[in-house]
Amino acid sequence: MVSIIEYSSEKKARNSYPHRIISPPIPSRCCQARMKRIGQVQVEDSGTFYYKRCSHCGFTVREFMSAIDIERLLSMDVSAWGDRTESWLDQIQHEVETERAA
Ligand SMILES: [Zn+2]
Repeated sequence: MVSIIEYSSEKKARNSYPHRIISPPIPSRCCQARMKRIGQVQVEDSGTFYYKRCSHCGFTVREFMSAIDIERLLSMDVSAWGDRTESWLDQIQHEVETERAA
């Protein structure tokens, strides 16, 4: 699976979903509260995911979902996703490193 996210510290963050998303290489504090889903939930071989992007700095990551998450998502207001903790940033940082290594 090819990710449409390009992590770059030189290029300006840009949302050209569904073709390309340019994202800063690391998340910032702003991201925790401002991540918004972009586009539709996508199903591919490696899993079900959607792209989420910070409306402030443009940081974007793929969020993989379990079947349970998907059920919860359908019954949940998107704005409630902003309520995350410190560990979330650590987790997302790890996800980015995985992305970049791919
Ligand atoms: Zn941000």
